[in-house]
Amino acid sequence: MTCILFFAAIQEISNQGTPTKQSTTAITPTGNLFIITIDGFRWQEIFNGADSSIINDARYCPDSETMKMMYWSSDVEGRRKKLLPFFWNVIGERGQLYGNRRLNNKMNTANGFSISYPGYNEIFSGATDLSIATNSRYTNSHINVLEYLANRDGFQGKVAAFTSWDVFPYILNKSKSHIVINSGYEKMESCSSTQELISEVQEKHMLNKTETRHDELTFLTAIEYLRSSAPKVLYLALGETDEAAHDGRYDTYLEKASEADRMLARLWHFVQTTKGYKDNTTFVITTDHGRGNRRGNWMQHGTFITGSSQTWMGVIGPNIEPLGEVKDEQQIYQKQLAQTIAALVGETFISDRKIAPAIALQ
Ligand SMILES: [Zn+2]
Repeated sequence: MTCILFFAAIQEISNQGTPTKQSTTAITPTGNLFIITIDGFRWQEIFNGADSSIINDARYCPDSETMKMMYWSSDVEGRRKKLLPFFWNVIGERGQLYGNRRLNNKMNTANGFSISYPGYNEIFSGATDLSIATNSRYTNSHINVLEYLANRDGFQGKVAAFTSWDVFPYILNKSKSHIVINSGYEKMESCSSTQELISEVQEKHMLNKTETRHDELTFLTAIEYLRSSAPKVLYLALGETDEAAHDGRYDTYLEKASEADRMLARLWHFVQTTKGYKDNTTFVITTDHGRGNRRGNWMQHGTFITGSSQTWMGVIGPNIEPLGEVKDEQQIYQKQLAQTIAALVGETFISDRKIAPAIALQ
């Protein structure tokens, strides 16, 4: 661990360069903000679609023929659209996508660990912490932006998080944060008959309960809460992409990514057909870390796996310039998201630590 800490510290220092492109246009807030994370999903698949060397490797893709019929195309644009139609048909047309390193547009974790807890801590607390180095269940003492917003005028009782991974109550400090947090296979208390049905499926029919709930159940619980309680700030944390990758199954990883894309489409459609949310909601979509950048290590991530600190971000909303893929040379960091999240609802995140500046959206 000492050795990992040393290398993680070196990596953090090398990641602390001044973010470029600090001021183009100011962020114009909307009344609502949805943050969605897709755990351990690589920028390579976002911008390039399925990887030819991995999809053709029987170790990772036992039926590559079907997977290629579903997701393969010889041109990059066609390929990424097949895998992620919402990203490329909707965000690519109406929003902005950051992190295509082929164009030198880069987003990285500033923490050197490139695993989940340090990543989510960085996203929501706006700074790194060398002592947050594992994914164990310990309570995060740093104030996070969701908690900060939940205590601001107009946001009380209006901030909620639905997460597949059951460590989030510790990361977001459920006991003191005043956020509604529903994580893992925890039952969601509600008088709605639909929520009762979702809970019943979750309780009685899910035989293989791991620390990560099926994303579909997390998603349905979140949608039901949106219908019943109309939060202003919603956090949806999907986790199955990372699980599939750790299993070494590229076919399942692609399917889970495709399902996450479909959930985003359903969520956006819900927003755009619901009074109060329609034309008044911004989405920020990102990941907690990258993964290995080669055929032999794509399934892993961490301090010593090259590529693990490489991330990406999508943003879409009525006040976001419809630029699609951002092609400028740029370096942004995950720790800038906390202040960006606050700015997108018209607030300034104040913490007892030095917080990274908001990303200057193009
Ligand atoms: Zn992982």
